[in-house]
Amino acid sequence: MKIHSEQEFENRVVSENMLHDNNPDVEDATLCIEDISNLKKLTDEKFIEIASGDIEEHIQSDEHLLETIGKKPGTYYRDLIFAIIQIRLPEEEAQRDWREILKHKYTMSEKLERNAGIHVATLDYFTNIKKKLVNPKIVDANEYVDTASRAITDKLTKAYNRSFFEYEFRKLFTIARSTGRVFSLIMLDLDYFKMFNDLNGHIQGDIALIETVRILHAVSSQGDTVCRFGGEEFVILLPTQTLSLAMRTAENIRRAIFDYRFTNEQTLPSGRLSASLGVTCYRDDISSFSEMIEEADSALYRAKNGGRNRVKAFLNDQAGV
Ligand code: GH3
Ligand code: MG
Ligand code: MG
Repeated sequence: MKIHSEQEFENRVVSENMLHDNNPDVEDATLCIEDISNLKKLTDEKFIEIASGDIEEHIQSDEHLLETIGKKPGTYYRDLIFAIIQIRLPEEEAQRDWREILKHKYTMSEKLERNAGIHVATLDYFTNIKKKLVNPKIVDANEYVDTASRAITDKLTKAYNRSFFEYEFRKLFTIARSTGRVFSLIMLDLDYFKMFNDLNGHIQGDIALIETVRILHAVSSQGDTVCRFGGEEFVILLPTQTLSLAMRTAENIRRAIFDYRFTNEQTLPSGRLSASLGVTCYRDDISSFSEMIEEADSALYRAKNGGRNRVKAFLNDQAGV
């Protein structure tokens, strides 16, 4: 039932066009990026144990929990069941099953005279009562999530990979389109990185990429998504920032990279490893998400042409730093 190797995960993570196939009636155990992201969130926050009353004295109301996790109604129970046992159910059926599982947990716990726990109760319910599982396998949730997470992260730097970036970007773009909520995109490229590699070797280059991502995580805000776009290029999605705020973040990043002492950076002609950054923000005249990427890329191009180690916004009337 569960899959163990990273390769298996990569093979089973669905392609882009399947990301939007949210038909919950299809019993498909293939993992998509949204599943992995949900799984990670629910596991990290011990949400399943909280929702079932395993680690809190009183079961909190579902409405309250929905709010805590920022979930929209209609996906709550199906995500919960899927996170525990990887069976995909329509929301109504998942809600009925969740109630039955909780009852079953209490019955089992009374008989055992100790808490049977949500995981054991769910397994027994789907294997012996509902008979939906014929060949279950038990794995530790954290280990499972770690393996799954590898499908959405870059191996070297541990930033999110390009697939995850595109998934997250599409999601923000769709929300912005329907609600008008703006978000920003920063594109960053290290300056003269080929020379840095040539002078210091590929391993030092790799270390500099890892350190760059550490800086990006340290400077960006908690809800921002840092991704490796490819090579020595990175993108950061800022889901709540307007252009002026994003420009400020980009400038902070530029300065932090410039100020950081990378090993052997003094071999570069400028004596410092630096980055150029392009910034753009959602506007309702942007027709597609790829247009927005092109805007960030063209701002980045201007930053390079302007002499590198600088930040530029896409539009001329959006003041570049
Ligand atoms: P510019 O300032 O115009 O961006 O110049 P640049 O040298 O940074 O750009 P260019 O595209 O010519 O070179 C990018 C270099 O990034 C070349 C490639 O070897 C290096 N690079 C890409 N991915 C990796 C990686 O994973 N590890 C290492 N060490 N280097 C990488
Ligand atoms: Mg480049
Ligand atoms: Mg470069």
